[in-house]
Amino acid sequence: MGELTTLASGCLSKMAIEPGAGGEPAHYAFRAGDQRVDLNACLGRPVRLTWSGAIACTHCGRATKKSFAQGYCYPCFKKLAQCDTCIIKPETCHFFAGTCREPAWAERHCFQPHVVYLANSSGLKVGITRGTQVPTRWLDQGAIQALPILEVATRQQSGFVEMLFKEEVADRTNWRAMLKGEVEPLDLVAERDRLLARLDSGLAALRERFGDEAIRVLEAAPVALDYPVLEFPRKIVSHNFDKRPVVEGTLMGLKGQYLILDSGVINLRKFTGYEVTLEAA
Ligand SMILES: [Zn+2]
Repeated sequence: MGELTTLASGCLSKMAIEPGAGGEPAHYAFRAGDQRVDLNACLGRPVRLTWSGAIACTHCGRATKKSFAQGYCYPCFKKLAQCDTCIIKPETCHFFAGTCREPAWAERHCFQPHVVYLANSSGLKVGITRGTQVPTRWLDQGAIQALPILEVATRQQSGFVEMLFKEEVADRTNWRAMLKGEVEPLDLVAERDRLLARLDSGLAALRERFGDEAIRVLEAAPVALDYPVLEFPRKIVSHNFDKRPVVEGTLMGLKGQYLILDSGVINLRKFTGYEVTLEAA
């Protein structure tokens, strides 16, 4: 691979992605320990990522042989509210049963306004996120379009709203289609209007239960997101540090939390906490 220079070394965090200004593609920073590397500047260059074999819990920093829930040691995975299943399935929130793992954390994270959005990552999908996580969440998913449609008072209530939408719309991304760039643009405003009309009685029932103010329709404009990709892969091969600790190839693109190399793709978020060295030509 020729001479490579070490750009960063440390435990991985998910990449920091900023929307591009004025029609520019998104901007990616690789993060290892307290180091940051501009990945857009590495496009078209040979890169090598090497996992040392060490993993540190992203919450407590202790060494762990295995990563749970993308970056936690087992004790943190069992103890933290953010690792509980009710974060993935907010409608199963059990705060009012008095069994929340960390009620103070929940007050700050779950009892805050959440946004229900439509996005186009591999076709139409619905999702929820805390208001402060827009547009990071969409960039992390590799969405090319997004539209906030409702603001909901709490995470649990947004989970009930999402359940309703899931009768009509997917809530998952087909990551292979997303990475191949095989995604047709959608008219998200028309989709919103269609869905709100179709789910009107279900939304009315939720408002009756939680109050009129709990679920507000947003008048937002759709957002278009673009990614720095020189060439989309035609076939998707996944790299995995657990199987092979050295990943190398020419960096062809960045989309969602994936690096697209000419040798395959790697979802860096999956390896949060892994001690990795990044080198580039
Ligand atoms: Zn831990």
